[in-house]
Amino acid sequence: MIYLDCNATTPCDQRVIEAMLPFFAEKFGNPSSLHSIGQEAKKALETSRHTIAQCLGAEDQEIIFTSGGTEANNLAIRGSAYALWNKGNHLITSAIEHHAVLNVFKALEKEGFQVTYLPVDENGLVDPQEFKKSITPRTTLVSIMHANNETGVIEPIQEIASLAKEYGLLFHTDAVQTIGKLSFNVKEIPVDLLSASAHKFYGPKGVGFLYVKKGVRLIPQILGGPHERGKRAGTENVPLIVGMAKALEIAQANWEDEYRHVEELRNRLEQGITERIREVTVVGKNAPRLPNTSMILVKYVEGEAMLLNLDFAGICVSSGSACTSGSLEPSHVLLSCGYPHEIAHGSVRFSLGRSNTVEEIQTVLEVFPHIVEKLRNISPFGKEAI
Ligand SMILES: *Cc1c(COP(=O)(O)O)cnc(C)c1O
Repeated sequence: MIYLDCNATTPCDQRVIEAMLPFFAEKFGNPSSLHSIGQEAKKALETSRHTIAQCLGAEDQEIIFTSGGTEANNLAIRGSAYALWNKGNHLITSAIEHHAVLNVFKALEKEGFQVTYLPVDENGLVDPQEFKKSITPRTTLVSIMHANNETGVIEPIQEIASLAKEYGLLFHTDAVQTIGKLSFNVKEIPVDLLSASAHKFYGPKGVGFLYVKKGVRLIPQILGGPHERGKRAGTENVPLIVGMAKALEIAQANWEDEYRHVEELRNRLEQGITERIREVTVVGKNAPRLPNTSMILVKYVEGEAMLLNLDFAGICVSSGSACTSGSLEPSHVLLSCGYPHEIAHGSVRFSLGRSNTVEEIQTVLEVFPHIVEKLRNISPFGKEAI
């Protein structure tokens, strides 16, 4: 199989698995226990916290462990919106956020908050000036993702974070797609809250973290013991946290080499596809983008059909037309970029990773044009394109 769906998830690195193994049965202690077995686990927990904090230029106590990116987003947004409820009820986000952000804001709207969903241009970029104009005296929080998971487009969060600071707003970023792929220093980009997830950078699933800048108040969303400085109750998942720290350490040590590697393959893929197939569009081509992601729109064919045919040929990709969610609605990201429904339906996302090879890309370039040709032949609109 050729796996080109790394924005959905990545395989666990072997070194990560090895780092985790002792913490399941041998060093199984509860980090809250005061005896030596517990303290051994506590030490591993705090060493992991330190490793992660170092990677971000943060302080150890600013890292809160969660069950993944989704929970980190929920805690950041709900936790701070409610902590600032007495200051105001207006919140700002973008129309292209991951559902783990969008659906939190939708729920908050039902609970009495007002939410502005900033539009994006055809490249999927939020305009910082548009953000500035949407600020009201009752605005408390803004949440803009760092890189979009579907298109790979990188939002101007440096500018947005600076504006947020100027206006005294909290700034949260869903950085799940960038942590591990780029370097991120919280001293350079003034974020108050940042979400990350281990399984997007070759760590295990079901674990992530939220960076919470010192002094930022959050209402906990899971209640119980005093774990994680009272911000997230529940016994910490020590093996997965150890794995996440190991995975981030590996990713940070190699991110520049990996960047160049996937970028070269991605460019080869995009060039090959645009040469071999007519009427295709690369989404966000003129915007700053992650080096591994390529969202391609193929006219006259269904994304789902391309995905299934590619899978049959041993190639795993993803499609923006989310039949997965049980609806036939095309991707909200592509619609927000201004693509009409019928174009947005023909989307396929290639997201590359560290173990992909030139040979694999070559195979895709041999297989994919035939799939598109076949599908266009049976499409009622396809004939004109061939
Ligand atoms: C994958 C992803 C999430 C969700 O993270 P989980 O750890 O799978 O819950 C959130 N935001 C973005 C941008 C993602 O790509």
